[in-house]
Parts: sequence; C-alpha cells; structure tokens
Amino acid sequence: MLTSSRRQLLASGGMIIMLSVIAVFVATWFGPATERMLTVFFISLTAVVGIGVYSGNSGILSFGHVAFMGIGAYASSLLTVPAALKGATLPGLSTWLAAVELTLIPATLIAMVFTAVVALAVGAAISKLEGSAATIATLGLLIIVHGVIIGWRDVTRGAQSFFGVPRVTDLVTAAAFCVVALFLARLYRDSSSGLRLRAGRENAIAAGAVGVRIRWERLISFVLSAAIMALAGAMMAHFLGAFSPKKFYFNDTFLLLAMLIVGGMSTVTGAITGAVVITLVTEVLRRLESGFSIGVFDVPPIFGTAQIGIGLIILLAMFRKVDGLAGLKEWEERVLPRTTLLAPAALPPVGARDVLSGKGLTRQFGGLTAVDDVSIQILPGQIVGLIGPNGSGKTTLLNMLSGILTPTEGQILHGGRDLTGLSSPDIADQGIARTFQNIRLFANLTVYQNVLVAALSTHRGKDAVARAQTALDWLDVMKHAAADAGTLSYGDQRRVEIARALACQPQVLFLDEPAAGMNREETDALMEILRRLSADLGISVLLVDHDLELINQLSDRIMVLNEGRMIAQGSPKEIRRNKAVIEAYLGTGRENEN
Ligand code: ADP
Ligand code: MG
Repeated sequence: MLTSSRRQLLASGGMIIMLSVIAVFVATWFGPATERMLTVFFISLTAVVGIGVYSGNSGILSFGHVAFMGIGAYASSLLTVPAALKGATLPGLSTWLAAVELTLIPATLIAMVFTAVVALAVGAAISKLEGSAATIATLGLLIIVHGVIIGWRDVTRGAQSFFGVPRVTDLVTAAAFCVVALFLARLYRDSSSGLRLRAGRENAIAAGAVGVRIRWERLISFVLSAAIMALAGAMMAHFLGAFSPKKFYFNDTFLLLAMLIVGGMSTVTGAITGAVVITLVTEVLRRLESGFSIGVFDVPPIFGTAQIGIGLIILLAMFRKVDGLAGLKEWEERVLPRTTLLAPAALPPVGARDVLSGKGLTRQFGGLTAVDDVSIQILPGQIVGLIGPNGSGKTTLLNMLSGILTPTEGQILHGGRDLTGLSSPDIADQGIARTFQNIRLFANLTVYQNVLVAALSTHRGKDAVARAQTALDWLDVMKHAAADAGTLSYGDQRRVEIARALACQPQVLFLDEPAAGMNREETDALMEILRRLSADLGISVLLVDHDLELINQLSDRIMVLNEGRMIAQGSPKEIRRNKAVIEAYLGTGRENEN
C-alpha cells in the first residue's frame, strides 16, 4: 500500500513526465550533440535513482551499485549482439547463448532479472552489516565484479572492448526508461516497505521495536535498486555500442555518487536536482578544460578541471547542505503537505488475555550484573509500576522483555509462548510494545508516518490506517499529524512515542519514564490517558518513572529494583511503608531524580 497522499503522487508523476517531454523537445531542437548529451543524462539519472532506492532509503552509502550497471550492460548485450558476430568474437560462448538474438526490451528485462538474482545473493550477506561496514562491503562488490568481468574472457572479452552491440538507445528510449525508473523509485519510497526502511534509517532500534524487520527491508530495496541499475547499464551499452569493464568502475561510481550526494540521497527530487547540476557543471567545465578566449584574453587549457570542479561542488554541498540540495523531502511533500486532519476511527479494545512473565532474568555487561535474577509478572489489564534509583536496572529489564537485549539467564513467557531470545520485531508481533527513556522517534518522518509504520509492521498491517489514526487521537496528537516528529516539543514527542506503541495494538505496553521532562499539568494529562488505556482498552502496562505520585496513583502493584535486584513488591501502600525501599531511595544518599 502507498503511504503518501494521491495528490502528492500525481503532482510528482505529472512533473516528471512534463520535464522529460520538455527536455526531449528542446534537445531535438538543438540538434544531435545536445540529443546525445541528454541521452547520457537520462541514463545517468536512471542510475542515480537506482542507487538512491537503496542508499537514500536505508541511509547506507553504496559504492558497489555501478557493478550492477556493468552486469546489466554485459548481460543485455550478450543477448542482442548478432549471432554471427558472437560466433566470431566470442568463440567460447555456450551454444545457446551464442545463438540468441533478442531486441532491446526483452534483453533488458532478462538482464534486470539476472542482475536482481545476483543482488539477492549479495544483498543477503550485505544486509547483515551495519553502516560503514556495509559501505565497505559494497566497495568490495565493485572490485570483485570488475575482476570477474575481466577474468571471464569467454563471455566478456576480458579487459578488451566488448563491441558490436546494436546502438538502439536513442533519446526517446532513454527518456522513457528513465521515467519508468523515476516512477518506480518514487512509488517504492512511499510503499510500506520503503517507509519501514526509512524508519529504520532514522532509528533502527525503535523500528525493530515496532515490528520492522530491517534486514529484510534492506534486501528488498537492494534487489530493486540493482534491477534499476541493470536497466541503466543495458541502456548505456546499447547507446555506446562498445565498452570495456573500465566503463563500469570508479569513474562512473564517483560521478553518480556526486550527483546523488549533491542533489540529496533520499528523494527522487534530489536525484533529478543532482543529475542536472552535475551534468551542467561538467559540460561547462569540459569546455573550459579545452581552453577558451574572452575578448582579447586567451585562457589556456587546464586539465582535470571537471574532476576538481565536481570535487569542490561536493565539498560545498557538504558544508552548506548535508542532506543535499533537495533535503529530505520531495518537493511535492513541501508544496502539498497533508493538510486535512484525518478522521479518527475507533480502535476496538484489545483486552489483554495473557500473562507476561519473566523468570529469573539476569543480564550481565562484562563484570557488571545490571539485572540479577529478577522475576516479574504482569497480569492482563494490570498497571505495574517499576521504580528504583538510577542505574538499578529498570531499562535493562525492559530491554530484555522487549527483545532488544537477550537475557544472560532466565526465561520470558507470554501466555504459554516462550519469548526468550526472540528478536524485537518478533516480540512486537506478539503484542508487546514500548517507548524509550531517551526518545527514539523517526525524527525526519511526519508524526503520522511514525505511527503508521508501527501499524503497518504489526498484525500483518491489518487495519493499519485506522489503528494509526486511533492511536494519534488517543494521545491527542492528531493536530501534529503532518509535522516532522523531530520538531515537536518534548512532551508532545513523548506522547507521539506512546501513540506509536499503541498503533501496534499491543496487549502489553512498556513505558520507560514517559513523564520525564513533562511539567505537572502534562503529567496529570498523561496519567488520565494511561488510566483510560488500561480501563477502556484493557491493555497491561509496565510503567517505569521517577514521578512517585504518577506511579502511586496509577499502579495496581509496584516493584522496586536496587542495584539489579528486586528488593520489594506490593501494593502502593505496602511499598510506601517498606523499610528497604525507603533505605534504597533515601538511606544511601542517592537522589530520587528524573
Ligand atoms: P536504570 O534504567 O534503572 O537507570 P539501566 O538498566 O539503564 O538502569 O542500567 C543498569 C546498569 O547497567 C547501569 O550500571 C548501566 O551503566 C549498565 N548498562 C545498561 N545498559 C548497558 C549497556 N548496553 N552496556 C553496558 N552497560 C550497560
Ligand atoms: Mg532507565
């Protein structure tokens, strides 16, 4: 399903088609030289959005995508080169491949599928890596594929020029394929898969906790982006007619990444902007490179001007605009924001049925036992307060119960199911949701998207929109739906985090210091909301906070941790009188701060 408004998609699609048609007409009017330049531009733009589909949405820069372009180029060319020529220049080719003679479109489609299969194998490995490790791995991919192309002489003619490819990519073909690639990239960005991946880019831990399987989403975008690269490669091969492995190596990687980074990785708008800017600049600098004269002055040729110029533009862009010229939003998202408030739907009560229990939970960090043999039970519909001085292990306990940390020892059960060792998305799927002590929103996504991601990624996305709307309504943040989550006040951000957890339609909700940074009035409002969540929706709540008034008024039962151990549990009244508790809070001289 698509997560952006239809108005935005129509505007985007309309603009892409209009610009392409205008560009084609203007180039045709200027003549063959401009036509060729623009054909290369469209092919480059296809490749730039191809890289953007992966790098922009996942936040992992890839140096390896030009390798997929190379695979696409060779694979499609092998299918279109006339059989007679193949017989003469590639004698080692297997007989069926030597005999095939396809036209551009079927050859391109087959090359895209082939490249996607290669990407599936490579991506399965790379998607396990994080951040810069993944980036380095993509660099390795580029080098390996280059090596394979050079070494596989029977099929590729090695380092020699691969020639005789029918030159059938003209301006209109390149423009049409480019438009298709732009559409694909734009639709993917706002598909539920693309939105999940972007949420993971913003905050991987929080994304996992609302059910996003980030490696899987990375793999999907990797395969799609590789297929788009193959499309660009096939077009390039059939534009050039002859090429060598060098064509799909560092030079083009540098040029395409420059376009992507200068324009902005995470949007189609950015890809177009970057491709236009870098193409114009290179064209101008290339002319300078060959020397020119202004009036009576003769400027001598300066070699390397184009490369240096692009390098300077990248530096300038990084200093002035880290996210690229287009920033993190599509133009149509800025011009046509979702203005209409969504009508809240009614969320049916969940009615927690299952007991959540942790038995003998222990977690060590090196020599430190952060949580030491703690057992905990949350009955359906109960609010359990969890208190203790700073560093007593409350967050660590929540992290184990929500699958973010694996317990060193102990067991977690939810209504007969053993949850020990499950990943956080799996736990989210079991109806257990949480918020974080240090707010972890998807800062550059809108409030609505923050909540929608959670709804889409749990309960198989059933009734996702209704669940998202209801959650926003419950926490009274519907009025901020169109705002970026990172721009809200502290109190509002905490409420959005609770709304996001609620959109998972949980049976159990963990709240880690939800009132931290809120004033008394906000805390009281929050208290009322939590009371209703428990009373009206029947959700079980495990509430960590330093605000003892909040804990005392809401909790059915309170548990007290000190230095990793459970030192007391009971009703609020019992806890208030408990000597060990009073000592832990006051006797050791520790502050009871928030
Ligand atoms: P609380 O939430 O009660 O303030 P925490 O669970 O955050 O306490 O921390 C308990 C202890 O575990 C602290 O001593 C803290 O330094 C340590 N700790 C927590 N998380 C980690 C971690 N990821 N790595 C190492 N030590 C940690
Ligand atoms: Mg904590």
